Amino acid sequence: MASVQIGSDDGPACPFCVGHFNAPRQLPCAHSFFQSCLQSYISSKVENNSILKQIECPLCKQVTTPTRNDQPT
Ligand SMILES: [Zn+2]
Ligand SMILES: [Zn+2]
Repeated sequence: MASVQIGSDDGPACPFCVGHFNAPRQLPCAHSFFQSCLQSYISSKVENNSILKQIECPLCKQVTTPTRNDQPT
């Protein structure tokens, strides 16, 4: 146990909080995040409480249309 690797055999981890998933939200680009972390990310992008039509994946910048469940409450 000399080193710690990100992305170990335990499976993917959320890049926001580096926690391991039990219920990840996967974007079309195949990157996964916690739903709550993705909502926080989206809310940081939203101005004036508007609905965000598109988001960029924070990892690969692929433009994605968020579902209604992804919108911050
Ligand atoms: Zn997270
Ligand atoms: Zn991505």
